[in-house]
Amino acid sequence: MKVFKFGGASIRDAPSFIRIANLLEKFSGQEIVLIVSALGKTTNALEEVTNAYLHNKDNANELLDKIRQKHFDLLKELIPDTHHPAFIDLNNTFVEIDWILEDQPNESYDYIYDQIVSIGEMASTKMLAAYLNYRNVKTQWLDVRDCIRTDNTYREGTVDWKLTEEIISRKIPSLLKNQFVLTQGFLGGTSENFTTTLGREGSDYTAAIFGYSLKAENVTIWKDVPGVLNADPRFFPEARKIDLLSYHEAIEMTYYGATVIHPKTLKPLQNRSIPLHVRCFLDPDEPGTVINETGATHGYPPVLVMKKNQILISIYPKDFSFIAEDNLSHIFNLLSDHRVKVNVMQNSALSFSICADDNERVPPLLEQLRKSYNALTNTGLDLLTIRHYDEESIKRHSAERDVMLEQKSRHTFQLVMKQ
Ligand code: ADP
Ligand code: ASP
Ligand code: MG
Repeated sequence: MKVFKFGGASIRDAPSFIRIANLLEKFSGQEIVLIVSALGKTTNALEEVTNAYLHNKDNANELLDKIRQKHFDLLKELIPDTHHPAFIDLNNTFVEIDWILEDQPNESYDYIYDQIVSIGEMASTKMLAAYLNYRNVKTQWLDVRDCIRTDNTYREGTVDWKLTEEIISRKIPSLLKNQFVLTQGFLGGTSENFTTTLGREGSDYTAAIFGYSLKAENVTIWKDVPGVLNADPRFFPEARKIDLLSYHEAIEMTYYGATVIHPKTLKPLQNRSIPLHVRCFLDPDEPGTVINETGATHGYPPVLVMKKNQILISIYPKDFSFIAEDNLSHIFNLLSDHRVKVNVMQNSALSFSICADDNERVPPLLEQLRKSYNALTNTGLDLLTIRHYDEESIKRHSAERDVMLEQKSRHTFQLVMKQ
């Protein structure tokens, strides 16, 4: 049994549907669960609908209609007969958002977000299942919200592993006779049948949840790159593919921000020694990258991970007292309360500096910090992490840049720089 995951980049237009069907034809007869994301950038577009609705702007319906139209246009390209039941199914899927938009919002932001944004995956999977069956690639559509059980932390559902494994291992194997099973990435369901999401870009994680629960032979995430490279090719065009990686190295890379794999993906797979394959949907005969237990533990080239839009917060006790355990523990409690993740930290006698993603969680943190400390900030920064650095790589990437903070450990060099 295997798990394949197709993300937004691999399912965005008619040629990508055709490509997926062609690819799956090569795997016919195999037991494969397919995890699929929303089309292209649909999740961002549905976030805009959510924001318009919750901020009482009058264009929520207009934004939604654009998204809906795009889906219908694409379905018509794939299945020209508009009497096909897939059209009614797709219509019913979007009606769920119409119902939400008809009423005044009176639930929490995060709850409403999940109910609206989840429709992206519901729609894309219904379209792909219909198209695959239309192409005679036999596929059973499945509602993942009945499989992955989470708590009700909307926008970041915590998976109930025991229950989820029990449901998936009971439901799926018997369905996989002579057909693929296709379900949604990114979504889960609560015990009261409300929809949750697992965090942005969470479909890789869904693939790992299924891989773990089914004790799969392997999990493959199909991407628009040849595999895991030693840097993001958008920032470093000279990036090279790494053929074999250890779980350890891959976890380190994703921790520092390599977005090719969602950071939560590797732990469940490592726990059951399930290999993760990262392969290119444009080149399905190529092996891509394999991540497993035996993957190389040394001999890597310098691996670069760039994180944009960082904030450096420098915290100073107001009375010139030293930075010591008591104020550090207070500062860490505030960071944890505000769910601000520290990407780098450094201290001196009178100051403690942290570098973090500059998002909506930071202003309330600063407000709290400033009740007890002076806090200065620098925004619009880049954080570059170089694993397995050498002098050449450090020189090359910091030359002519305004470096605000740097830190070196045995395997990792980090630089916080102005953009
Ligand atoms: P999807 O959402 O379709 O599953 P993503 O866009 O999330 O795929 O991931 C693929 C992208 O990850 C690539 O296009 C690439 O820009 C980026 N990326 C970041 N770091 C790396 C890396 N080390 N190796 C390969 N790709 C990387
Ligand atoms: N569609 C979701 C997102 O864009 C989940 C995913 O694609 O992984 O965040
Ligand atoms: Mg994605």
